[in-house]
Amino acid sequence: MSDPTNSRDAVSRDAVSLTGTGLHLSFGKNHVLRGVDIQVDAGTTTTVIGPSGSGKSTLLRVLNRLHEPDQGDILLDGRSVLADNPDELRRRIGMVFQHFNLFPHKTVAQNIALGPQKLRSLSKDEAHEVALRQLDIVGLRNKADARPGNLSGGQQQRVAIARALAMEPQVMFFDEATSALDPELVKGVLALITELSEKGMTMVVVTHEMGYARNVSDHVLFMDHGAVVETGAPEQIFTDASSERLRNFLSQVL
Ligand code: ADP
Ligand code: MG
Repeated sequence: MSDPTNSRDAVSRDAVSLTGTGLHLSFGKNHVLRGVDIQVDAGTTTTVIGPSGSGKSTLLRVLNRLHEPDQGDILLDGRSVLADNPDELRRRIGMVFQHFNLFPHKTVAQNIALGPQKLRSLSKDEAHEVALRQLDIVGLRNKADARPGNLSGGQQQRVAIARALAMEPQVMFFDEATSALDPELVKGVLALITELSEKGMTMVVVTHEMGYARNVSDHVLFMDHGAVVETGAPEQIFTDASSERLRNFLSQVL
């Protein structure tokens, strides 16, 4: 049997589909998600684009049940997960945010090992091994014993990605993972996200990086005011938008 801690292989072997249907969520009177459908086939990447406040982050948070939807269903691998313990789902979905939130007083390797030790019940040594392997994948093995504060923002974000991967998620979410980075650091992080796409990880990527959305993702979803206004292949979205709203949005960001 192959080594279950080797996520390089696990990526495509365990790829699952993710589906959200008819998702609604309100915060008080603010109807933030208005019947969102999303279908991410196993091993594919969907990027979510749209103006600020359109509900992109909320969609991710509903899909991993940080917020429970008021209506709708969420399916992993074709099976509804709403009856399961939400912690179970969150373990299967890795999430990377704009701000990396690494523990400053722990080493890079300790930051990554923490989750596997607590939630995958690995021993300290096993979790450390997992951390080193993930650091290899993100190209930062030589930083294992450094403190996060001594790394660049781009390196810290790659550590945050390694930390998420160490949990062996079946799906990865990225929420504007490069937005807080200095421009010269964006490329390295995007390259890593691209590599994960190419390895066949199932991913949902909220991004303002239109080059990434166009060149790497399999599917693009354009949101505005809590609804999916248009969805399709990148080529179609970027060269043949049918809605006025999407054309306006693209004319502002491209
Ligand atoms: P985006 O990520 O596209 O910029 P968000 O999903 O963050 O948009 O926000 C969509 C709407 O939901 C906004 O009107 C925002 O104010 C509101 N919102 C998001 N999170 C919360 C929350 N935890 N409580 C109340 N309102 C929220
Ligand atoms: Mg957001």
